[in-house]
Amino acid sequence: MSNYRIQGATGEWEVVIGLEVHAQVVSNSKLFSGAATAFGAEPNTQVSLVDAAMPGMLPVPNMECIRQAVRTGLAINAEINRWSRFDRKNYFYADLPQGYQISQLYHPLVGEGEILIDADEKAGIMEAKRIGVERIHVEQDAGKLMHDQHPTMSYVDLNRCGVALMEIVSRPDMRSPAEAGAYVRKLRALLRYVGSCDGNMEEGSMRADVNVSVRRPGEEFGTRTETKNVNSVRFVMATIEHEANRQVDVLEAGGKIVQETRLFDPDSGTTRSMRSKEDAHDYRYFPDPDLLPLELTEEFVEACRFSLPELPDAKRARYVELLGISQYNADVLTAEVETARWFEKVLDAGAEAKQAANWVMSDLFGALNRLGKTIIESPVSPEQAAELLALVADGTLSGTLSKQVFEIMLETGDHPGKIVEERGLKQTSDTGAIEAVIAEILAKNPGQLEQYRSGKEALFGFFVGQTMKAMAGKANPQVVNELLKKALAN
Ligand code: ADP
Ligand code: MG
Repeated sequence: MSNYRIQGATGEWEVVIGLEVHAQVVSNSKLFSGAATAFGAEPNTQVSLVDAAMPGMLPVPNMECIRQAVRTGLAINAEINRWSRFDRKNYFYADLPQGYQISQLYHPLVGEGEILIDADEKAGIMEAKRIGVERIHVEQDAGKLMHDQHPTMSYVDLNRCGVALMEIVSRPDMRSPAEAGAYVRKLRALLRYVGSCDGNMEEGSMRADVNVSVRRPGEEFGTRTETKNVNSVRFVMATIEHEANRQVDVLEAGGKIVQETRLFDPDSGTTRSMRSKEDAHDYRYFPDPDLLPLELTEEFVEACRFSLPELPDAKRARYVELLGISQYNADVLTAEVETARWFEKVLDAGAEAKQAANWVMSDLFGALNRLGKTIIESPVSPEQAAELLALVADGTLSGTLSKQVFEIMLETGDHPGKIVEERGLKQTSDTGAIEAVIAEILAKNPGQLEQYRSGKEALFGFFVGQTMKAMAGKANPQVVNELLKKALAN
């Protein structure tokens, strides 16, 4: 058990957290229309008559969105409901021309599932923990109001209107900001592995409603507040930190928590009230008469299951148990799907797993860090990396030389074999072997040695050439230079 507690004047408080995450489904077109969904398009260029709610238009479910939501459900071990239904959530707002959002209240597509968060002792999560997921339902996004285009008017952009969202609702199972942060990171990683959402929180394709309450340890749940649309892992944690402390202060002062919707302000790191339960909406939910219930065949669900990739927990276990990679390296290499993909391409190109893992963790990550690049932007390809590792494995390159070659690869994009050839960076920094060859050369050329020692320094090049020739070009020229200088000075 992690024991995150807030100490009040009258004793300890425990925090209870449940998250509702909205994740935009990766698909070319919207949930009920054929309009495109590309991010960053000119306002109102991706709006069909359905999205604009023209009279008489009928929604048609986009089965690709349904497929992605089912795959997501399977990835969190959830029940898939073969029969689900769409409901209308009625409300008026300028970004919603229909006057209702098509969502799923009573019969969601995905039922009970779970997400495992990992132990992270540094963050105070002492052991892995199962967080329940109550449901995933599918719904439409709304449009966007633009208040910064005109001094007295607001404009509306309907590009996002009708885009498919998955709402992933957790159980109130989290007990600290760190656990909530770990949950969001794990969920985001899973969505990216599955490919059902790109997880870009800055672009708004994943955002969290953060439900927080506090209670005395072991007592009943307290009244919760819900902070809407929090758009980074850091902000989710800050929201909880602030909101839990605020609630404790209210309760310790003899006050009561009102169930309300709040907003997080990233600038101050605080939350403020948006609306209370008293003026909470009555959405008058009812089944959408324009849509038939969604019935899925077993074949459809099984095809979704079959299409799933190896997921992070299974991958990590395989790295440790079958590839012999350390637990820590396996954690890092599987945390993001792009890293795992890159690493596995290095293995596919023939590299040995442990050697490759160490190299990616130190040399590659070090370089990417320095260059401010992500692994997908790496200037060196996995195949080139495997080639470099092969040169280390067969003794052509020493560790130091391989770092030198890698630096040149980063600069030039050349293959390591070519670099080693062209720059004579092949290993034999074996000083003993080089010294022995040098002694032989000096003994064989007493005339040149005498001339050199009596001032004909140009002969230095002659000795270098002889040494390199004797070593079939395999000596590190730098080392040869140093050792020759020493030998000739004697
Ligand atoms: P509603 O239907 O009113 O939105 P839900 O039961 O769907 O309420 O819960 C919404 C979210 O709030 C869920 O993620 C749930 O885990 C969380 N939640 C429910 N009760 C609490 C509580 N007492 N403290 C913190 N989170 C809670
Ligand atoms: Mg809810």
